[in-house]
Amino acid sequence: MYGEVVSTQVLTPQLIRVVLGGTGLDGIAAPGGTDSYVNAFFVPEGAPYDVPFEDDAVRDLPREQRPYPRRYTVRSWDEAQQQLTLDFVVHGDVGRAGRWAQHAQPGDRLQFRGPAGGWVPEPEADSYLLVGDESALPAIAGSAELVPAGRPVVAVVEVEDAAGEVPITSPGDLTVVWVHRAGAGGPVEDLLPAAVAALAPLPGTVSAFVHGEAVATRAVRRHLLEQGVVDRGHLSCSPYWRRGHDDEEWRAVKGAWTREVEADVP
Ligand SMILES: Cc1cc2nc3c(=O)[nH]c(=O)nc-3n(C[C@H](O)[C@H](O)[C@H](O)COP(=O)(O)OP(=O)(O)OC[C@H]3O[C@@H](n4cnc5c(N)ncnc54)[C@H](O)[C@@H]3O)c2cc1C
Repeated sequence: MYGEVVSTQVLTPQLIRVVLGGTGLDGIAAPGGTDSYVNAFFVPEGAPYDVPFEDDAVRDLPREQRPYPRRYTVRSWDEAQQQLTLDFVVHGDVGRAGRWAQHAQPGDRLQFRGPAGGWVPEPEADSYLLVGDESALPAIAGSAELVPAGRPVVAVVEVEDAAGEVPITSPGDLTVVWVHRAGAGGPVEDLLPAAVAALAPLPGTVSAFVHGEAVATRAVRRHLLEQGVVDRGHLSCSPYWRRGHDDEEWRAVKGAWTREVEADVP
């Protein structure tokens, strides 16, 4: 499966929207959740193949020529137009995926597998808590759009500064707490946990979605479970990326990290 870039849009200094279309999307499954993601493959410059490529044709190439996999949330899927929208965090001039998005031009191709994933805000919950950084913004914004009308929903989102904020809309009774890295004292990983700990209690059964940087999401998870803010069965939590690790380095240690996180709150 592959898409051709139809358009790009700079949403904020840290976030670029890429809309994919074209016949390479024929037969794509509709995303099943607001966390649905594609596993996209970024082709290194100078590699001796183009998109679309067969797995067998690239498997035995030297590492520096093989495609680099990265996961991206489906921000939206337009069935009528057959267009898939992804929002990419750009983080300086590093990152194979971030840089690809920065330089993407109409007609450029992106190969991927998926989408996979199927979390949605639980329809029976009394209130909703959505927490993360820019990498989780597509899922957070999509989830806020899907909560039942009138129910309380709080989104706590870490961004660089006010220019990093994007509109989030919801039929629910939405409160957005923007957390700015710029100018904040102390370790950046403490910002989201502190903002979540400062929230007023949410009513009833809380359906929570906590995704983003590994250290920050771990601390938020620990707080929510230890304080009984959210029951384990109503919490969707996973580390999307880890500061100081690129995705290859992160995937190499992610399994052990996840086991440690699960042991945090017995
Ligand atoms: C299920 C899932 C869904 C995801 N959805 C999205 C999404 O919709 N949009 C999105 O942007 N990301 C999303 N991510 C996270 C994304 O896959 C990673 O951030 C990935 O590492 C980015 O790849 P890269 O090639 O740009 O950077 P890499 O080559 O992996 O990393 C280069 C450097 O940049 C740092 N870095 C990586 N990500 C970030 C970041 N977000 N902010 C600051 N520094 C960073 C790394 O720590 C490293 O130092 C998702 C991850 C998962 C698992």
